[in-house]
Amino acid sequence: MSQYEKAWQAVLQRIDRACRAAGRTAGSVHLLAVSKTFPADAVRAVYAAGQRAFGENYVQEAAAKRESLADLADVEWHLIGPLQANKTAIAAAGFDWIESVDRMKIAQRLSDQRPESCLPLSVCVQVNASGEASKSGVTPEAAVAFARGVAGLPRLRLRGIMGIPAPTSDATVARAQFRVLHECFDGCREAGLAVDTLSMGMSADLELAITEGSTQVRVGTAIFGDRSA
Ligand SMILES: *Cc1c(COP(=O)(O)O)cnc(C)c1O
Repeated sequence: MSQYEKAWQAVLQRIDRACRAAGRTAGSVHLLAVSKTFPADAVRAVYAAGQRAFGENYVQEAAAKRESLADLADVEWHLIGPLQANKTAIAAAGFDWIESVDRMKIAQRLSDQRPESCLPLSVCVQVNASGEASKSGVTPEAAVAFARGVAGLPRLRLRGIMGIPAPTSDATVARAQFRVLHECFDGCREAGLAVDTLSMGMSADLELAITEGSTQVRVGTAIFGDRSA
């Protein structure tokens, strides 16, 4: 077993244990392997272990990696980093999901630029649950109305809500932020939007996120190692 496979298995076990502890069915939480800054060979190793969904933060870096991995036909690529208007065409063609949609201008461009040969692009609305001015994302108050607008675009498929809580060692603070995201997700459902994804939780806090209802954890460090190493 490769080091990557071991680490990947260990993350799956953490997810499984957290699901049990929360009384949730195993398999109700998907794992997105965040491969940003790691080379195509590392993605290949984790793919070989069985992982199919990979998350990237940078449009150009992801495009280069996709090219080296073109022989792996069933990889699902998710963009989880900020997206600038001048990169929407590459993103709309190269990704299966964009989880960081927080401006209507970007959503509109993604819908316009999604190639006809592809299925509608799956998207999540990014919500800023911490209120930090530096963070991307719509406010929790604006999330449902914004999501409704996104869902109305013809070449996008609204999947749900994504959030990146402010790093904190205080579980109470982290929990409160996860709850805000969960409320936005519930708000979408109550508004009749067919959402199925609440993307929250990373290497350090995936158990807490699962307790608070996450359906997709985005895990980099715990699978690929330290990015600053
Ligand atoms: C890098 C990143 C992750 C993964 O974080 P780890 O702490 O390495 O697991 C998850 N989500 C987003 C948006 C990221 O940028």
